[in-house]
Amino acid sequence: MSKKHSVVIVGGGIVGATAGCALAQAGIAVTLIDAHNPAREWPADPVDIRVSALTRASQNILQAVGAWPAMEQRGIGPYDHMHVWDASSAGTLDFDAADTEFTALGHLVENRVTLASLWDRLESLPTASIVCPAKVADLQIASDSAKVVLEDGQILTAELVIAADGRDSVLRQMAGIQTTGWEYKQDGLVATISTEKSHQFTAWQRFLPEGPLAFLPLKNGQCSIVWTLSHQTAQDYLSLSDEDFLQQLEQASDGVMGKILAVGPRGAFPLRFQYANQYSADHFVLIGDAAHAMHPLAGQGANAGLLDAAAIAELIINAQQANRPLGSHKLVRQYERWRKGDNLAMMNSMDMINKMYTAQNEVSRQLRGTGMSWVNHNAWLKNHFNRYAMGLRDDLPTLASTETNA
Ligand SMILES: Cc1cc2nc3c(=O)[nH]c(=O)nc-3n(C[C@H](O)[C@H](O)[C@H](O)COP(=O)(O)OP(=O)(O)OC[C@H]3O[C@@H](n4cnc5c(N)ncnc54)[C@H](O)[C@@H]3O)c2cc1C
Repeated sequence: MSKKHSVVIVGGGIVGATAGCALAQAGIAVTLIDAHNPAREWPADPVDIRVSALTRASQNILQAVGAWPAMEQRGIGPYDHMHVWDASSAGTLDFDAADTEFTALGHLVENRVTLASLWDRLESLPTASIVCPAKVADLQIASDSAKVVLEDGQILTAELVIAADGRDSVLRQMAGIQTTGWEYKQDGLVATISTEKSHQFTAWQRFLPEGPLAFLPLKNGQCSIVWTLSHQTAQDYLSLSDEDFLQQLEQASDGVMGKILAVGPRGAFPLRFQYANQYSADHFVLIGDAAHAMHPLAGQGANAGLLDAAAIAELIINAQQANRPLGSHKLVRQYERWRKGDNLAMMNSMDMINKMYTAQNEVSRQLRGTGMSWVNHNAWLKNHFNRYAMGLRDDLPTLASTETNA
């Protein structure tokens, strides 16, 4: 049996669930499909190994869709300083919230906190429906609508289908959209650690020959690490005993956190540069990792996806208010033009930084050292980089640019 929906979102990760909340709170009938129901409760310890640095722009979006208060209640960790240094040169960079109009540069939040808060919010909105657990078996795009066929045979017909099903998006393949990119042959090794020295609410990042090592300050005083390593080294480090792993980590840390006392479970994620050649087809768009996967060295993947979610929601809400179709060619192309260039610029910046810092010849080392010192002493440039990293740039969706708290 086929039921007509205004918008169907496939994928209820951080990005898809945010789009769902934005649409449903504007009174649009939206159905979200996901293969898994996220956890809503968990023991306080250990911390989720998946943690994201969320920018000011993302905070605005999550506040505007009504998820931020529940995230605050579940626990978020602000950071007000960022210190970046290069293991192979004298280059250092510092960013401080005191140089901005905000009290924090951003927040470190466990992914499970963001997800649970978004799903709770979505369930409270009368025009939202959730189909879960459910997997998509087929996508059929027609001239006036798109149909999502579930594995149990259910068919959902919508004016617009939004694919938010992650970087290996099945919907993207079903829509015949190709991708461009490559595997970095690097993994992001993640874990939660306890340290002798306080993290001082600072995000620390040391660039090493294999990739950056970040210590991200958590609310409970621990740090989440994201350590970019060659695929082989990451696999080797996963199989080390805790004691041997801590020794490697302490060596790589330059002693910045003092003695590293304990490590929780470890995980490693293969890194990829990938963008969808198109973000849209008629009655169909891609958002989040389904549209773009980028190097996590500046923690921008989910932040970029939240801007996609806010942008497509704004276009749909405007169309609904003006009584225009929600899945028109014009609307999906407008979304693509709005978001593709911004995402590509961010992805290319991350890629360039990764290449710049893994190059170990003398010229590259000197250039890095001089370049970092130069930027560090140039208040205008630093402010520009800082605002860019906080997601505060031109042409933001309204949900991202509306300040709802200090
Ligand atoms: C090591 C590491 C550190 C990172 N740190 C940061 C950071 O600090 N800040 C930041 O902004 N980003 C960070 N990122 C990137 C960030 O994790 C991703 O960009 C973000 O999680 C993508 O969210 P998404 O909702 O687009 O996709 P996903 O989180 O992949 O969600 C996809 C959803 O779709 C569902 N799904 C998939 N297929 C189907 C199907 N066929 N049918 C039904 N449902 C389906 C899945 O169950 C899932 O819920 C990091 C990434 C890595 C690897």
